[in-house]
Amino acid sequence: MDFRLDRLVTLYLVSPLMRFGSEKQLSIPILMYHSIAEEDEAAMHTYYRTATSPTVFAVQMEYLHQNGYEACSLAQGIAQLKASRRSGVKSVVITFDDGYRNFYLKAFPLLNQFGFSATVFLPTAYIGENTLQFKGRDCLTWSEVRELQKFGILFGSHTVTHPQLDSLDKDAIESEIVHSKNAIEEKTGCAVESFAYPYAFPQAKAEFRKTLRESLCGAGYRNGVCTIVGRARRGSDPFFMERLPVNTFDDMALFQAKLVGGYDWMAKPQSGIKVAKSWAARIVRREQNDGRRK
Ligand SMILES: [Zn+2]
Repeated sequence: MDFRLDRLVTLYLVSPLMRFGSEKQLSIPILMYHSIAEEDEAAMHTYYRTATSPTVFAVQMEYLHQNGYEACSLAQGIAQLKASRRSGVKSVVITFDDGYRNFYLKAFPLLNQFGFSATVFLPTAYIGENTLQFKGRDCLTWSEVRELQKFGILFGSHTVTHPQLDSLDKDAIESEIVHSKNAIEEKTGCAVESFAYPYAFPQAKAEFRKTLRESLCGAGYRNGVCTIVGRARRGSDPFFMERLPVNTFDDMALFQAKLVGGYDWMAKPQSGIKVAKSWAARIVRREQNDGRRK
C-alpha cells in the first residue's frame, strides 16, 4: 500500500487532539463515492483513487447502520445545518458521481438493505436507453435510473459531458448545467435540484465560483457539492458543499475519523496546493506573454 501521509496525520495527530475539544458547530459528513467495484488502480496514488470494492462498501454501510447514522438528502442536510439543532440523529449524505452502472448492481442493494437513501450525479451524455461507457466503465441507463428512483434514490446533474467547466465560456457552461438538468427531468419526471461539480473544484478562482453560482441559481438548482474536502457546515456554500472522498483504502479507522471530522484538516493543504498551482499557472502565462512580446 502507498504511504498515506493523510491517513497518518488524521489518525495519529488530528484525531487524538480532537478528543480534547468539543465541537461547537453542527456539521454533516457528505460521502463521495464513484465506482463500486474491484478495480486495479495501482498506477494511481491511493488519495486519487475512486473505486471502492463492494466488500469495503458493505463494511462501511454496516458501520453507518450500526452506529445510528441516517442517510438524508442534500436538501435535508442543509435544512438541519441551518436549523443548527442537534436532533440526536446522526445524519450522513451519501453521494455517487459519474452514474456508473455498478451503483445499480452493487451499491443500491446494500443501501436498500439498510434503508439508506443516496444521491447519484449523472453526466447525461453517458446515460442512454442502452448502456454507454464513461472512463471505461458502464453507466446507468435511463430505465435503471427510473427503477432506482422508485426506491427513493435521488438524481442530480454532473453536467452533460463532464468537462473542465472552468475552461469553458459562459454560454457553454450554461448549456452544460441547463441541458443536463432538463434531460434528467424529462426522463424521470422529477425536478432536479442538486449539482456536483466535475473534477477538482477551482477554489482559488473566486470570480468563476461567483458566476457559476449565479448560473446554477438561474437554472433552478438549489444545492450542490464539489471536491473540497471536509464535512458540510452551516457556513458552507450550499452550491459547493464539502465532501469526504472514500475509496477501497479507507480502512475502518480512517472512515470513522472522516465521519467525525478527523479529515477536515485536509481542506487546508488541498486549497494551498490549488492556490499555488493557479499562481504558478499565472506566472507561466505571464512569462509566455512576455516572451511573445519580446
Ligand atoms: Zn465526475
